[in-house]
Amino acid sequence: MAGKSAAFPGPRTESPNVTKETHRLGGIHNDAVNPSMMAPWQDAWQRIRAKLRTEFGDATFDSWLKPLGVLRAEGSKVLISVPTRFMCDWVKTHYLSRITDYWHQETGAAIDVELVVSVQAPSPGMAAAAPPPQVKPNGRPARADGQGEDMDGGDTYSAPLDPRFTFDNFVVGKSNELAHAAARRVSSSTKVQFNPLFLYGGVGLGKTHLMHAIAAEIRARNPERKVLYMSAEKFMYQFIRALRYKDTMAFKEQFRSVDVLMIDDVQFIANKDSTQEEFFHTFNAVIDQHRQVIISGDRSPSDLEGIEDRIKSRLGWGLVADVHPTDYELRVGILQSKLEVMGRDDMPKEVTEFLARKIISNVRELEGALNRVTAYSDLVGRPVTLEMTQEVLQDLIRSNDRRVSIAEIQRHVAEYFNVRLSELLSARRARAVARPRQVAMYLAKQLTSRSLPEIGRKFGGRDHTTVMHAVRRIEELRETDSTLDQDIENLRRTLET
Ligand code: ADP
Ligand code: MG
Repeated sequence: MAGKSAAFPGPRTESPNVTKETHRLGGIHNDAVNPSMMAPWQDAWQRIRAKLRTEFGDATFDSWLKPLGVLRAEGSKVLISVPTRFMCDWVKTHYLSRITDYWHQETGAAIDVELVVSVQAPSPGMAAAAPPPQVKPNGRPARADGQGEDMDGGDTYSAPLDPRFTFDNFVVGKSNELAHAAARRVSSSTKVQFNPLFLYGGVGLGKTHLMHAIAAEIRARNPERKVLYMSAEKFMYQFIRALRYKDTMAFKEQFRSVDVLMIDDVQFIANKDSTQEEFFHTFNAVIDQHRQVIISGDRSPSDLEGIEDRIKSRLGWGLVADVHPTDYELRVGILQSKLEVMGRDDMPKEVTEFLARKIISNVRELEGALNRVTAYSDLVGRPVTLEMTQEVLQDLIRSNDRRVSIAEIQRHVAEYFNVRLSELLSARRARAVARPRQVAMYLAKQLTSRSLPEIGRKFGGRDHTTVMHAVRRIEELRETDSTLDQDIENLRRTLET
């Protein structure tokens, strides 16, 4: 940590009386402690933050802008800290000009905003001095010993929690913000607000992570509260075992005094009748005592197959929150956060972006890809490059290749060449429409698994020979017409990400 937070990139010439020591973060913090220095810009910064949030939305703000902190504002210079190099590049290209505009609005002067990479190392007594209180992402004080803590809470029945699955390590984006907010809410309030909370979504999108985070957070806030977390599979296993050993009393007993009951992957009990019966009974008993119940599943309650209707209906009574597949920005954020945790800052930006663009299936696979690449690089003792990444992840990349629809191709091509979609699909033969149409057909052949007749049908009912001709023609043209070749490359890239 200390190594990373060390210094500014170069000597600061604007204040020659500053000793070398102040280049270190500690020194800067000490400067910031001086209230007379903080007051004028701190308000401005809070207003700017509010504007940025309004302009870019909560998800973007939380991922990229919230972690920024003003280290110093002097004269016409503002120095802003960004926790990582990657974020620094990203913020620079995407948001710096807006941030500069807003400073200008606030001060009426031309302001030179400079970003520096530094991990804000909070130290006791610094809280008041660190510019905005939100400076650290998810600025919850870290547990003293970090990992390895016995988070099991001593409950013999509760499954152990993965210490990595905390709220701190959960990156929030558009696709998971509802589920995340709901998870936060149930873990921070002792009042039962919605019962049950039902989290659902496809595999590897963070349901279990959120469940563990809730359990860990509740236990951390109040060790007295009894949280029972288990997978539906374990529920069944225990139940069957209890039946076999005629010990159902003990099995039932464990649920009697829980404050929070969490069952992960409820879809597992589909078609398992006696287990379902027992689950329903348990569920109702806990809810009737006004204790919080949190369930996860791979689909919404009403879509669960092989589960009794009365159970499905009951599962949907509280708050149902879904986790959607990730978008590009969230994937970048997640990679970034994992790299931080791994303590690696040597990952080229193009590799991170490549991974986020290519590994779209789910977060588990994304993490796996990252691990594979870094492990490989360590093994062969060479730094990670884009080439290496492509090589090492060949199989994953192929299976993640996105399915592009013909309609999407048509829309993009029409927009790119500035022709109307209706024209693209019409019978018009004018060159200005005919060429884009051929490009669209070509891309449909390249990027989808549709047959020539199918493609023809989607283009206003054309014959498959027309499509074949278009594909050949564009192949030829790509050899000779570099502009067109570039156009197609551009289109392909946008369509595939
Ligand atoms: P699910 O239970 O939905 O199948 P998991 O919770 O097991 O998925 O998540 C799979 C992996 O992806 C875990 O290692 C988890 O930490 C990680 N993960 C998923 N979503 C996020 C996120 N938003 N931020 C950070 N890590 C995530
Ligand atoms: Mg899971």
